Amino acid sequence: MHDEGVIKFTAEHEHRSLPVRRFGDLTCQLAAWREIMAKTGLVGQRGDLYGGAGYGNVSGRIGAPAAARGERAFLITGTQTGGTPCVGIDDFCVVTRYDYQFNRVSSFGAILPSSESMTHGAIYDLSPQIRFVLHGHSPVLWRQAQALRLPTTAAGVAYGTPQMAHEVQRLYQQTALAERRILSMAGHEDGIIVFGKSAEEAGQVLVTELARAYGRECAGQGVGLCSFAR
Ligand SMILES: [Zn+2]
Repeated sequence: MHDEGVIKFTAEHEHRSLPVRRFGDLTCQLAAWREIMAKTGLVGQRGDLYGGAGYGNVSGRIGAPAAARGERAFLITGTQTGGTPCVGIDDFCVVTRYDYQFNRVSSFGAILPSSESMTHGAIYDLSPQIRFVLHGHSPVLWRQAQALRLPTTAAGVAYGTPQMAHEVQRLYQQTALAERRILSMAGHEDGIIVFGKSAEEAGQVLVTELARAYGRECAGQGVGLCSFAR
């Protein structure tokens, strides 16, 4: 099932450009890590993958840490920007509110929010310390999720749905998710999320776990004989 890129919530969106003076720095922080993800294939768009839809999205919180759940506003890449080679401020929007119960997202910007905004909101609701969320598609991490003991959402739960928000909360309470800061999504092919208090913290988790996954694939194929698949 390829539901990548399909908006699953009611969007209340105000079309207007984001001011550079307010969002320029955060845009560039996110664009920088997104570039690493694009170069490693975790963000992109390919005709032979996920029904040709763009995949991968990144976000960073704006505003006070203490904001209420459901109102932890964040800057996020817009819908279907996975294949955009170089993102700028017009490829981002601000999500101001998200509501799992009514499956509704409020936002503003030059582009509609990522179809996966609800899950980003669910991660921010886990803790006021979480300020950055990166979502990418990594077949190697997904394949090695069990071996690496990555907290993993149930196979029956699709990304971007209200059920995923509850599933993420369950993992935060019942697994080492708070310390690991990475989860794999069994119901979302190749789907991985990392998060952190800074973009660097989230990015380092991603790169470290990616290397661990490649290390296991190398060992599994016989040391020195490995040819890495994507
Ligand atoms: Zn995805």
